Amino acid sequence: MKSGLESEKNYKECCSCFFTTKLPGVTIDESGKCNFCAGQTCLSYIKEQTDSDLQELRRIAEKLKQKKQGKYDCIIGASGGLDSSYVIYVAKKLLGLNPFVISYGSGFVFDIARNNLNAICKNLGVDLKIVSSAKGYNFKHVKYITLALQNLGVYWGFCQFCVYLLPAVLYKYALKENISTTLCLNLSA
Ligand SMILES: [Zn+2]
Repeated sequence: MKSGLESEKNYKECCSCFFTTKLPGVTIDESGKCNFCAGQTCLSYIKEQTDSDLQELRRIAEKLKQKKQGKYDCIIGASGGLDSSYVIYVAKKLLGLNPFVISYGSGFVFDIARNNLNAICKNLGVDLKIVSSAKGYNFKHVKYITLALQNLGVYWGFCQFCVYLLPAVLYKYALKENISTTLCLNLSA
């Protein structure tokens, strides 16, 4: 592994997204774009996401309502940020679903996001559950990983636990409430 000083010397930021060379696998070309932006890796994915039409979504929603086994049609992991807030709005207001919203209180969530999430769920009449780890272990985990990595000059890695923990939290409540469909996994800001 490169020392903090060496990686600092070759450090570059992508001019069109938030990726930097500190993230493993990211390179920045002469145009200033990272290999993901320059290679248009995400284009087909974005097209797939933006081409969906409301009628098709409503057909899918009707199927979800028919196979509902408990109180809720689907579960949504939400942070209070733009993406997950919009998913809640579409699910409830445009598709007429009854979602169960789960958020993870990591200890790093901005008040504005938390207040936003509370307001959205209250105004739309959606049930919200905020889950936190016992004795603040999540906060301690991030704190000590960050301290361990700071001399290496890297910032990635300390959120790796999110990859496993956040879906696990969501699936735990999905199982508990007999919900078979997940609309969004973004339950932590
Ligand atoms: Zn980029």
